[in-house]
Amino acid sequence: MQVNYASGSSIKVDGTSFELKQLHFHAPSENHIEGKSYPLEAHLVHASDEGDLAVVAVMFEEGGANEGLEQAWSSMPEQAGEEKTLQSSLSADDILPSDRDYYRFNGSLTTPPCTQGVRWLVMKQPVTASKEQIEHFADVLHEPNNRPLQPVNARPVLQ
Ligand SMILES: [Zn+2]
Repeated sequence: MQVNYASGSSIKVDGTSFELKQLHFHAPSENHIEGKSYPLEAHLVHASDEGDLAVVAVMFEEGGANEGLEQAWSSMPEQAGEEKTLQSSLSADDILPSDRDYYRFNGSLTTPPCTQGVRWLVMKQPVTASKEQIEHFADVLHEPNNRPLQPVNARPVLQ
């Protein structure tokens, strides 16, 4: 499931501005933190004017219901390819953790063509989603949509 954003939200990485294009989810998580997998992971995909990509990843653990997700979840399409309009805007701010520390590494997109050169910023602090929210997403998905864990190889992971 993907939420598309109108222009106007951006982050700055390495002195370059990356605009938020879309937000989507994976269940279970694609990134593991210290060996731990999470039931849900959000990817906030940003692109620079040059077409370079920066993805901010947020992990969800089971806990209190996530109000930020509520907007998107109530409009979740039940069929592949279906498009819906959100009744109110979903601020990326609402699903980011209060602590903005992150891990950083260079990687690729996790879906074909798995384009290289993507700047990954993985938030260290998970946020919560309720059991119902996590199950709702998994039900609509029918099957896991996470790319299997990839070897770190020679990539440095910065904290
Ligand atoms: Zn993704």
